[in-house]
Amino acid sequence: MRWPLDPMRVLSIFRHSRSIKPWHSERTGSRWLRFLWCLLPLSAGAILWVSVDKEMAKERLSFEQSLSSGAQSIASGYAQYLTRSIDQMDQVTMQLKYDWESSNGALDLRKLVIRGMFTSPQYMEVAIIDRDGSVVTSTASPSTAKAKYAGRSFLAWHRRNISSIVRISAPEADAETGKSLVRFTRRLDSPDDDFDGVVMVTVTSDYFSAFYDAAALGGKGMLAVVGDDGRIRAARIGNAISYPSKATLTQTPRFGLPREAQAFPSNGETWFGPQWFADGDRRFVAWRTLKAYPMTVMAGISESEQIAPLENKWRTYRQIRAAAEAAILALTVVLAYVLHLVERRKMRLRSVQAAYRLATEAGEEGFYMLHPLRAEGRIVDYRILDCNERGAFLLGKGKKEVLGQALSSHYQAEEFARLLEVYGHAMERGSYREEDEFQPIAAPAVRWVRRKAVRSGGDLAVTLRDISDAKEQEGKLIRLANTDELTGLPNRTWFMKSFEATIVRAQEKQEIVALLFIDLDKFKNVNDTLGHATGDKVLQEAAGRLRQALRPTDHVARLGGDEFTVVLQQARDDDEIVRIAQRILAALAQPFHAGAGAMEVGASIGISVYPRDGMTAGKLLKHADIAMYSAKGSRRGTYSFYRQELYDALRTRINMERELAEAIDADQFVLYYQPRVDAASGELLSLEALVRWRHPLRGMVPPLEFIPIAEGTGLITKLGALVLDKSCQQIAQWRAEGISPVPVSVNVSAVQFQYGDVHELLRRCLRQSNISPELIELEITESSMLGEHATIAGRLAAIRELGVKMAVDDFGTGYSSLSQLQRLDMDVLKVDRVFTVDLDRTAESRVLFKAIVSMAHALGMRVVAEGVETQAQAAILRELGCDELQGYLISKPVSPDETRSILRRSRQLISPRNEERTLRLATSG
Ligand code: C2E
Ligand code: CA
Ligand code: CA
Repeated sequence: MRWPLDPMRVLSIFRHSRSIKPWHSERTGSRWLRFLWCLLPLSAGAILWVSVDKEMAKERLSFEQSLSSGAQSIASGYAQYLTRSIDQMDQVTMQLKYDWESSNGALDLRKLVIRGMFTSPQYMEVAIIDRDGSVVTSTASPSTAKAKYAGRSFLAWHRRNISSIVRISAPEADAETGKSLVRFTRRLDSPDDDFDGVVMVTVTSDYFSAFYDAAALGGKGMLAVVGDDGRIRAARIGNAISYPSKATLTQTPRFGLPREAQAFPSNGETWFGPQWFADGDRRFVAWRTLKAYPMTVMAGISESEQIAPLENKWRTYRQIRAAAEAAILALTVVLAYVLHLVERRKMRLRSVQAAYRLATEAGEEGFYMLHPLRAEGRIVDYRILDCNERGAFLLGKGKKEVLGQALSSHYQAEEFARLLEVYGHAMERGSYREEDEFQPIAAPAVRWVRRKAVRSGGDLAVTLRDISDAKEQEGKLIRLANTDELTGLPNRTWFMKSFEATIVRAQEKQEIVALLFIDLDKFKNVNDTLGHATGDKVLQEAAGRLRQALRPTDHVARLGGDEFTVVLQQARDDDEIVRIAQRILAALAQPFHAGAGAMEVGASIGISVYPRDGMTAGKLLKHADIAMYSAKGSRRGTYSFYRQELYDALRTRINMERELAEAIDADQFVLYYQPRVDAASGELLSLEALVRWRHPLRGMVPPLEFIPIAEGTGLITKLGALVLDKSCQQIAQWRAEGISPVPVSVNVSAVQFQYGDVHELLRRCLRQSNISPELIELEITESSMLGEHATIAGRLAAIRELGVKMAVDDFGTGYSSLSQLQRLDMDVLKVDRVFTVDLDRTAESRVLFKAIVSMAHALGMRVVAEGVETQAQAAILRELGCDELQGYLISKPVSPDETRSILRRSRQLISPRNEERTLRLATSG
């Protein structure tokens, strides 16, 4: 099961939280900043809102002021107008009273009308009424009704009040016309000051409210006249003069009273709510109580009407404001979003940094945040914004000394220039990752770092890991991997790499390169005889000599074993190559002094040349190898240039190897036999079995053409077994044919002797053919006896144990000494043909041969001379005491059939002492 949250991780984060803290507070700080940023447009919005409100309030105030002043001036004007109108009525009634009283009731009002008085339309009726209420005289048509006004309140009022002031009645509807009428009445006194009736002027109500200025009051202005009796005399809204007043004012304010409900002072102005008016408008009303008359005028201006244009203006204000606010809000949202994005990016960056730090603080890695410093658009340096302790350490400083500093201050100018380039790449491509070698001044021990740089925003995040130790180790390993431990020379690995590079360079520059493949000639012998320790010393010495023989520009390497290569760069021509090859050969031809004595080793060199012998390193190496084999094959201690023929020869050889393997399986081999005779009597003593390959196409192939190949491929073991088996079979067959057999000596190759189990093979063959072991003799060369003495001696003893004799073949060509042979208990010494050849020509050869014979005899060995071709040689050999002779003089190797006939006939092959051949080779068959 997996924990959704790894508790260890949580713990570790917790532990690190202290180090994150400053980052955290920085984050809240920036959140505040972000909030303030957003607050800016918001508060601008609020200011706009308030100031528009304020502006509207200001406008409203001035509007109200203008309303108030308008209403007041209208009220004042109205009050004056009304006072004047009433004054006029006062004077009219006063005049009539005077006229009536002075004329002693002789006033005829109709005559006055005829004269043009009281003709204005507002005069409904002007009349004199007697104390009983009957009309005495009137401008109206004569009334029929007696005591028409008898019950009227004005009559009773004037009878009661002995006062000459004019009384203004409350409006009353005229029964006939339905018009609202107001009566001005004045008491008439009899000469003895008794009540004598009234003078009455009746006007229509609109007489009061005719004063209506639409320009000032608008279409919905209100005018009203209220008496101190609390009754409305006249009222109008706009042009509609209405009576009853209910149609205009729904209630009547009381003026001139102490403050109580619905009561107002004598003069003033204020808003009257919609409940006051029949049309439900709100109005600003100013009122004035007339000084001379118990009446108050009201002038009201309709709010809805007057404020409408302002309202329109304000609506536009509000709309604009709303749009502006919406824009501001949108701006705020966008700003907030952008700030949020910026913050989020910063956060992410920080979290990356934090993660980096968390990940690296405890670890091996140094971490830095670098801020590029530019000059003319190019980055010229970096400021270290942040780093961890390890990072500072890798610069050889403490963290405090590093933070905020220029990166350049930590490096040498040249180093920094290169580092700048590296970081420049990272800034361009986004990242950089390399192992490199920039050395801070203060931290010289930090030689190699693994550097990762990642562009992060506009900055560069860098991690460093000190890999100096690993690099050193790696360097050591590389050196080890490329060096041959024994000689200190570069090894095969290095050679192949460097040679390939050399070829590539040569190809570019069109140069000639020579490859010398050097193989020490007799190293194997040294190694086998004197042991590996000596062999190693020889190799070391050879390496030293090679180095000395070469120019510094030439490279020598050890491929392995005793093989070396030398690469000659910019070789001028073959002559130059030859000179160097010869110098090397000469150097290696000098005897080596390792261990006991001096040894001659020598070397053979194969040479291939680029581009003549190949275009690739592999091909050139192969060809040099082939050339080396050819050099070895021809004559040791020489050089050989690669030629196509060599390659062909090699091909032939490879073919041969294949054919040889097939030939062994198909048994295409026959044994020829060469007799060995007693030197004194000339009698046949034994036969040497010599193998021939009866090739189906090429005919009889001599052993020297295939034995070396068989030895090289290891086929010799099989072939040797075949030969031994055939020899034994042959003896058995002769015996079966009734021929008394002679011993047959069989050649055993050094390779076979070393790797094939000759003892076991011999035992098996002897048992299978059931022949006596004395009939078999083995010939081994001196090289077979090289190697560890005890092993060889043991092997030889085991063979002799079987009753088989041992002969040393080709004696004198190898390294063996007679004393060595004696210790190995050899039976026969076959002296090589080279010692026989000169016997009849030089005295020295005879002396040498004599010495060999004497010593061999002293050691209990019989001596056989090989390659005896002349009677003279045979004679000398007899004189020198040589035991046996072998050679063309006696017989060439012959076929089994011929051998059989030899065995059947006389076994006296040459005549004794008379130096004459007694028997020519029988060829008749
Ligand atoms: P070897 O063992 O020294 O054999 C003698 C070689 O000398 C034979 O050559 C023989 O033909 C030749 N020879 C003999 N008398 C004369 C002479 O008077 N003058 C001259 N010029 N040559 C003479 P062959 O048969 O070609 O054999 C060559 C070598 O091949 C042998 O040298 C031997 O080392 C090897 N060899 C032959 N048969 C075998 C074999 O069955 N097993 C092994 N391991 N090696 C063999
Ligand atoms: Ca031999
Ligand atoms: Ca021999």
